[in-house]
Amino acid sequence: MSAEQQAATAATEVPAASLTPILPGATIGMLGGGQLGRMFALAARRMGYRVVVLTEDRDGPAAQVADAVIAGPYSPENLDRLASECAVVTLEFENIPDAAVRRIAAAVPTHPSARVLATAQDRSVEKQTMLDCGLPVTPFRTITDLTTEAGQRELTAALAAFGFPVIVKRARSGYDGKGQRRIDHEAEVAELAELFGSDRVVVEQVIPFRCEISAIVARNPQREAAVFPIFENRHAHHILDVTLCPAGIDESTAQQARQIALRIADQLDLVGVLCVELFVQPDGSLLINEIAPRPHNSGHLTIEATAVSQFEQQVRAVCGLPLGATELRTPAAMANLLGDCWEAGPPAWDRALALPGVTLHLYGKAEPRPGRKMGHLTATAPRLSEAEANVRAARECAGGP
Ligand code: ADP
Ligand code: MG
Repeated sequence: MSAEQQAATAATEVPAASLTPILPGATIGMLGGGQLGRMFALAARRMGYRVVVLTEDRDGPAAQVADAVIAGPYSPENLDRLASECAVVTLEFENIPDAAVRRIAAAVPTHPSARVLATAQDRSVEKQTMLDCGLPVTPFRTITDLTTEAGQRELTAALAAFGFPVIVKRARSGYDGKGQRRIDHEAEVAELAELFGSDRVVVEQVIPFRCEISAIVARNPQREAAVFPIFENRHAHHILDVTLCPAGIDESTAQQARQIALRIADQLDLVGVLCVELFVQPDGSLLINEIAPRPHNSGHLTIEATAVSQFEQQVRAVCGLPLGATELRTPAAMANLLGDCWEAGPPAWDRALALPGVTLHLYGKAEPRPGRKMGHLTATAPRLSEAEANVRAARECAGGP
């Protein structure tokens, strides 16, 4: 049976109630107030939904564009209020306490589910889940506590298995390379216990990848799933720097990446959007780096380059609407705008926007700190090389690298 046939068969078993679509006019709740929540809210409001954001940051990126804001912590009162005002609740980020999501889910459909979150919040659980599904994952070992003798023995065993270099990552609450340390030499090993303390970590072999790609999949309660074109991602200092689409990989690699994303979405019974970050090894085979059950920075160019954006797709998925078309309408390149672009004063947006096919997205963050994602630029062009050159030139005009 093909994946499509399987999905069609499975769809008939879903209870009817959960398949009733939530139509425009209804209110969607958003947990989290950053740029992903902002771009989601913009897409949802364009379609005629109301959006209520629960965030501590009353003037933050998502709150600025929402219909209403519940400003405060994820307290029982605020969670209950959000649930009472919304037909469905979604989230912008996986690092939300799963107890908060379970509380809301008891009252109103919440996507992605607390179960998906619990998997994606913990690198060790996430990687083991992928492995158990028979999917290819970067070789790793979990170490419960580096400050104990047992932990040090596990570390020695991991280093013996992988050799140098390795990357040590905090199992929980890391993003944009935070909570990670690359270890190239034996002499650096001693600092790990002090650096990570008693936090659970994963030790990973460093993969000498040819390139990094991502596959973004959406899946709705009807179990319909759709994958966006594969993105190629260039990082600088462990933070995404530039994304290109189409990726510079052959069709069979792209097909493999799409299949992996679809398998993960099915295995997790995902409702919403999920990104799989992958390493393409020198021999062309793929390894999963990590997953994120939400729209992803590498998918921002879908706003300009695909029929439906990843944010509209999230709206459609969580509301039980048919998913939109994902095919690429034009080559595109995205460049992140970090706070560093503001170092020499306000960026010259007029010069950046003079370049052909360039669009600007600013997230409404007041303070441009170095390394902070303030916005992004996208360029579309008939040829990818042009799109990349234009987006890089635009960012340089704006004071970027
Ligand atoms: P984050 O949650 O911060 O995005 P990632 O695990 O994706 O953390 O790491 C950020 C980046 O660091 C990756 O996109 C990749 O460029 C690099 N990296 C992480 N793990 C490895 C690895 N095992 N081998 C090679 N590069 C890695
Ligand atoms: Mg990552």
